[in-house]
Amino acid sequence: MRERDKPRAHVIEPAKSGTSTCQTCGLPIGAGVLRLSEAFVSDEGRWARSHSYARTPRTRSYDSGEDRGGHSNHDSVSPDVWARYHHLSCAAAQQPFKLRSALAATTLDIPDRAELERAIEVALSGADAAEEKAETRDEYQGFLARLREAPDDDLMLVFGDWLHSVGDPRGELVTVQRALETAEGEAKAKLHDAEKRLLATHRKRFLPERLVATLVWRRGFVHRMVIAASDLEPQTLGLAFASPSFRLLRELAVHANSSTILVAANLPRPLPATLRVLELGTARHGTHGLGQVGALVANGLPQLEHLAVRGAGDLEGLRSATLATLELSVANATEPYSSGGRTAEARPLTARIAGLEKKKLPALRRLVLRVETNLDHAVAAVVETKLLQHLSELVLAGDLSRAGVDLLARKRKQRLALLDVTDCNLGAADLDKLRTHAADTIVEKPSTTATATAAPKKIGEYLVRHKKRPEWGIGKVVAESDDGMEVDFAEGGRKQIRNVEFLEEVEAP
Ligand SMILES: [Zn+2]
Repeated sequence: MRERDKPRAHVIEPAKSGTSTCQTCGLPIGAGVLRLSEAFVSDEGRWARSHSYARTPRTRSYDSGEDRGGHSNHDSVSPDVWARYHHLSCAAAQQPFKLRSALAATTLDIPDRAELERAIEVALSGADAAEEKAETRDEYQGFLARLREAPDDDLMLVFGDWLHSVGDPRGELVTVQRALETAEGEAKAKLHDAEKRLLATHRKRFLPERLVATLVWRRGFVHRMVIAASDLEPQTLGLAFASPSFRLLRELAVHANSSTILVAANLPRPLPATLRVLELGTARHGTHGLGQVGALVANGLPQLEHLAVRGAGDLEGLRSATLATLELSVANATEPYSSGGRTAEARPLTARIAGLEKKKLPALRRLVLRVETNLDHAVAAVVETKLLQHLSELVLAGDLSRAGVDLLARKRKQRLALLDVTDCNLGAADLDKLRTHAADTIVEKPSTTATATAAPKKIGEYLVRHKKRPEWGIGKVVAESDDGMEVDFAEGGRKQIRNVEFLEEVEAP
């Protein structure tokens, strides 16, 4: 490729074929659809090395940069410039400066131009200081692009140092929040004050307006957001997600506290592409309508690892190449609940499970089912889908009974690495049966069933033998006082033992 053939600036162009992928949301860009062609420097390998090694001595592989060819040579002075593509709406939110310059230069007729310009304004209203300055913008965006792709705590510290060095106040926030992770006592209190002061001083930059939510910060950025369904407001949330503090958002939890708010419908789309954990609904007694969860996820969450659907969520179209853990939770597995809206057909969890397809969830390895009533039926539905044979972990919580146990035991060829029945109330015989299904790791509640009938009191469980009178046999301690112990021996009968040093504890047979 000759120098002048390379893309030099950010341009808007129609996608030549339907084969390009949006670098922001990870979804394909249809043929003929207008896209932003973003010119970028492909020398990621050297770029990252020069930054990461500033603090972390560990070796890393940066092959991908070299693969694109031409600059593995250390003498190369001008790194290659390449193009990557974005939907215009995605670029407006995540690459507002680049899209704005492309819009200014384009001669094409942009149909939703006004809307895009508004979106750019929104995104720019919360730009970081280092992003506003032309001389630091590219480096800032280089850091962010790498951090968005994969969490990297060390790189976040390097980023923080760099922000500090260019006078961006977020740099100090990174430092303070990093120190808070290990601080104790008075130092911790001081750091908390410093954090509070920073957030207040730079409120407009750090915190989106009108947002009512619980935020968990991590090294200068919001890591997790917990919001009540009644506080969902797509426009406010859209603004929040466009703010720089949310650019590395990894976890979003929406608690269903209102039966009238449709969770999925009131979330802005696309959701932040950095999300790895999405929790919808309420853990216990889940019956809330959560809306079309399948469509919400399929609509561009390229890093999603964990999805919890606690309530009635429509799973139709659920598709994710990365989803490893799926949690489904509902009050009653066979009762039809509406996922919400007047048109939505009420369906039981069993029917929703039946619609899941392994080929649409290739990375799924852990399934969690929390069902208060009719868990057996949910297990039967899972067995039907053939999902079971691809899982390595199954977590069951609820009213699992003999029927469910038998279903699993019959599938003994499809052994699980982990079967967690901690929150099921199973008897010893059923647990034995399940061990053939996942012998290595069954997690069970410590002796609720066994001791409930045998000996509820601590005293009664304490078994002893009298060293001098072994013929009395094993004794149960029935009372303890200043006078010693009262022991009921199997052969010797009830005795009061003053010299307790003659008693030795024995294990229950
Ligand atoms: Zn996109």
